[in-house]
Amino acid sequence: MGFDLAPALAEKKQQHLYRVRRQLESAQGPEIRLDGRDMLAFCSNDYLGLANHPQVIEAFTQAAHRWGVGGGASHLVNGHHSEHHALEEALAAFTQREAALFFSTGYMANIGVINALLGRQDRVLEDRLNHASLLDAGLLCGARFQRYRHAAAEHLDSLLAQGDYRRTLVVTDGVFSMDGDLAPLPALARRCQQHSAWLMVDDAHGFGTLGVGGRGIVSHYGLTATEVPVLVGTLGKAFGTAGAFVAGSRLLIETLIQNARTYIYTTAMPPALAAATRASLALLEQDEWRREQLQTLVRRFREEVSRIGFTLLTPLAEADTPQTPIQPLLVGGADQALALAAALEQRGILITAIRPPTVPANSARLRVTFSALHTHAHLDRLLEALRSIAREQPELMLVQASEALSAQDDAE
Ligand SMILES: *Cc1c(COP(=O)(O)O)cnc(C)c1O
Repeated sequence: MGFDLAPALAEKKQQHLYRVRRQLESAQGPEIRLDGRDMLAFCSNDYLGLANHPQVIEAFTQAAHRWGVGGGASHLVNGHHSEHHALEEALAAFTQREAALFFSTGYMANIGVINALLGRQDRVLEDRLNHASLLDAGLLCGARFQRYRHAAAEHLDSLLAQGDYRRTLVVTDGVFSMDGDLAPLPALARRCQQHSAWLMVDDAHGFGTLGVGGRGIVSHYGLTATEVPVLVGTLGKAFGTAGAFVAGSRLLIETLIQNARTYIYTTAMPPALAAATRASLALLEQDEWRREQLQTLVRRFREEVSRIGFTLLTPLAEADTPQTPIQPLLVGGADQALALAAALEQRGILITAIRPPTVPANSARLRVTFSALHTHAHLDRLLEALRSIAREQPELMLVQASEALSAQDDAE
């Protein structure tokens, strides 16, 4: 009873849901050193390979020499630095919004925005596969919280037609973080317009990887600031640094400065980090080759891995749909996903198994992610390892494909 913590941990172990942390002993990149061992990794979110880019490092160190390390105070006391301000202006221009606000993490940005905009008289509607930070924010804000079926604009429509609320906010990931598919944004935006709801898009995985200049999913679909009034991006993924931003109208940003508690009651990020992020933004916009390399690698991976007999989470799409760097292989049980990850690890390849509660029960998967710094030789090694597993341990490939897929559907 009480604080006897051991039994719950033992139960997690028994269910193959216990998580352990391993130590990275190199910079982030395709070839890493982990717990003393050289590995080829396909699991970071450093999609463009900017986390260890010399120009980003240079901007960071130069700014650290100039401004020091610590932010020293919150933004509303005296921690709001000209470096933060310059980054916000660059992000507003990048997203073609009037203004942007720099947060310490994506988790905090989402908690801050939803809580600043909504209260008891309001309603928040979320895709049921949204990122945990969005779901948590929806639950915390005190508004009526409802989830609609994954990417189902018609289900959203039927929910929007019900009830009488002061404000309704519809919230979706742009690219779903554990599935890698795109939200049907044009359809969602149309429904929101019809019902005078606001649409908030968290494009943590789309910025840098989708759209011309890496402007993300909203730009890919050609949607306007009126259709998507609240746009969130994170900086720890394709940008390769850390932090997050919210972009929108000047009124939205002023509202957040007054009301977003995760912005107000926290120490400002190091100014040097803002400087590094401006350098990475410039690379992200200009290096179209990084996005092209991702598309080429992902298309080849999808074709060849299907031929080996693994199950991709998203169906083979038409040639003109952009692919995302998140390409999970569906496995089913948590134990099976761990066994497949272990078999890959024996072959020198690191891909983490994603298990419940991060994903619905029986839809455990290996979340394969690509970086623009992966080469075709790296991909050859991954495919060769998967082929040898298919030959030697075929029981580790998806045996209950239909069960796992329907588990994912049922959970909706
Ligand atoms: C990673 C992620 C976040 C959290 O961002 P952090 O900066 O890592 O806290 C928020 N939303 C989505 C969709 C994400 O994938």
